[in-house]
Amino acid sequence: MQNARLSNGQIINVYEYDHEIHGENIFCRHCKAKLIYVGTGNRNSGPFFRTTGHNDSIHEDDCPEKREVKTIKTLKTINDYTVDINKVNLNDNHIIKVNLDNNLAGSSHGKISEVNKNDSKKKLNYTLNSKNRKKQLTKNITSLTTIANLLQKCSAEELKKIALDIKGKLMLVSQLVIDQNKAYEISRTGNFYSPWFVVHGKVRSVKKLDKVLFINFDEQDGLKPFTAYVFSGHYKYFTYTNEQLEGKHILVHGKIKFNEKYNKAEIQIMWNKQLYILK
Ligand SMILES: [Zn+2]
Repeated sequence: MQNARLSNGQIINVYEYDHEIHGENIFCRHCKAKLIYVGTGNRNSGPFFRTTGHNDSIHEDDCPEKREVKTIKTLKTINDYTVDINKVNLNDNHIIKVNLDNNLAGSSHGKISEVNKNDSKKKLNYTLNSKNRKKQLTKNITSLTTIANLLQKCSAEELKKIALDIKGKLMLVSQLVIDQNKAYEISRTGNFYSPWFVVHGKVRSVKKLDKVLFINFDEQDGLKPFTAYVFSGHYKYFTYTNEQLEGKHILVHGKIKFNEKYNKAEIQIMWNKQLYILK
């Protein structure tokens, strides 16, 4: 976690925290679980707050910090599990058509219909059998929200049994939904096997300047391989605030580009629909 609550109720960012000034009594800002501060030490990455998992240092069951961890865990599991799609017997997989072209604002904001909103509510024919549980699965995905629902609803095992049909090309969920490192690798090597990707990560900070807004992700393995940005011309379509984003795990959808100057992968965000906050 990047933010914590002090005994006096004040919220503090991990970069502003000083135990001499603020003391050792720091809590989850949602459920008040006791937290500890983990400094940089010898690790090549930034500081953070966390629970110890003992006594009063455990998140409540309904704490958003706990819930988002579960989805991230699932994502990490599927990202770690690299599969050659050619070796997968797709007869066993449920195929979901994915077209996210309209999720990208593209040329005209006005023309884009709002049909995507109800995707997640549609009851469709596909069901996924897993340990005798049946889940209704969507068969078309046209929005980032529907992808987020899928990730939050399914276990890693279930997600591995889904094949995505992206413009006639089949791929696994782990090939579309990727972490920062993979985004970097894809953009650096120019191996754009999908027209767009979904990158997941935790927002460390949001910096709004006159001409551009940067959504900086937390470091991964000591590096900062990815950034999302919004040009000022699109500020009116991008209404998330710093408070809504900082410290949250998010999904960002878009075309990945490689920024040679900064040696980073990046995605331009043009409107709210390209970003989803995992709850
Ligand atoms: Zn909590």
